[in-house]
Amino acid sequence: MTRPCSICGSRDAVYYQSFSGDYLCIACLRKRLIKYVRKAFSKYEFSIPPGASIILLITPAQTPIRHAVEEIFAAAERPFTTKITTSLMKPGRDIVEAQREAVEEATKNGYRLVMLSTTLEERLLELLTTLMRRHSLDPSCRGLYRHGDTTVFKPFSFTSLQDLYAYAAATGKLSHTPRTPYLYEQLLAAAWGGPELAYSYRRVLRRLLEDEP
Ligand SMILES: [Zn+2]
Repeated sequence: MTRPCSICGSRDAVYYQSFSGDYLCIACLRKRLIKYVRKAFSKYEFSIPPGASIILLITPAQTPIRHAVEEIFAAAERPFTTKITTSLMKPGRDIVEAQREAVEEATKNGYRLVMLSTTLEERLLELLTTLMRRHSLDPSCRGLYRHGDTTVFKPFSFTSLQDLYAYAAATGKLSHTPRTPYLYEQLLAAAWGGPELAYSYRRVLRRLLEDEP
């Protein structure tokens, strides 16, 4: 059974976005993903200098959808006409370790503008992991922070990993590679089954992000 897209009404929906209650076609899902990435740029008042050379580091949870992530980022960032290099993070002990090691390596390789592909769900995971381990948040939990001379930004802060997986699957950009099983990632994956819970964790995380200094 097919349903029309709730937004354009003309194409068949491929995805039910439980958070909004919208049924989305591929084109409207793509537009929405691009809008979320642009929202992060405006929310953090961050822009990439024209012609800058940047590196986009893909989180371990996004290895199977790397091509979709690259495509959405490039489309959202197009006005900046940047030279984008992409690299996959090594799994590390957890998401915080994986990100730290990847940022250090990128810095060593001369990059001064580093984009982490960390999504909404992964930012929650990173907050929980940091709190569990150190009992206080460090700057790397923020959407935009400095690591020595390097600026690190998380353009997918307001984008759902679930939406990106749906887009990758719908556009045939899903590659079957083994995923890194993180405890909270599995917990969140289980939460995707219930719209109410999925909505509430997004709401909690957005609240946390709003309060971010
Ligand atoms: Zn549509």
